[in-house]
Amino acid sequence: MTATAESLQIAGLVPMSTCDWPGRLVATAFLQGCPWQCTYCHNPALLDSRTPGLVPWGAVRELLDRRSGLLDGVVFSGGEPTRQAGLVDAAREVRERGFGVGLHTAGAFPSRLRAVLPFVDWVGLDLKASPEQYAAITGTGAAAAAAYASLEAVLASGVAVQVRTTVDPTVQGPDDVAQLQERIARLGIHDHVIQTVRTLGTRPEYAERLAARACVGSTA
Ligand code: SF4
Repeated sequence: MTATAESLQIAGLVPMSTCDWPGRLVATAFLQGCPWQCTYCHNPALLDSRTPGLVPWGAVRELLDRRSGLLDGVVFSGGEPTRQAGLVDAAREVRERGFGVGLHTAGAFPSRLRAVLPFVDWVGLDLKASPEQYAAITGTGAAAAAAYASLEAVLASGVAVQVRTTVDPTVQGPDDVAQLQERIARLGIHDHVIQTVRTLGTRPEYAERLAARACVGSTA
């Protein structure tokens, strides 16, 4: 049986955002659950897939009815939104209502990503590192293969993409970042944003590791 939009476990809904899809005014739905455990994850409360959602899909529908002509679209974010099979139906419905569909994904589920891409207008793809450094950041051995398969799927689809990399200084050095930038550029991707890791919302032990590095740096 096909999963419906009503089955989505939505942890939060931001009714209006200017920063989740560059150049667009959107509502952003944060979907519960992610299989990875990134060092710097700034919303660990979203990771457990057993945690029930707080926002019913009907609330998204009502918002779109009220904001018709005001919003450009809906961004599905997370967590990892492709974890939930109901995403395809939800994206289809948003499109049918005349809104654009944006997707934030780290590419943990390439097959599910391929299934939803026909209903997506823009992807913000979180590509964390070169393959050999993925496990150190995500805590998951299979993460690199999934992420790079997802990158291939997005490129093959022709959907507009912005690749984002949050640099984890506890894992990646400047040479690693430069090599990743070259790898991305060789694929013909020109929209690659390098982001600095933030401690806000991260687990206390990671914040402490970052702070310790800063102290070492300031006394060197
Ligand atoms: S992929 Fe994103 S949501 Fe999942 S653990 Fe990593 S940073 Fe957190």
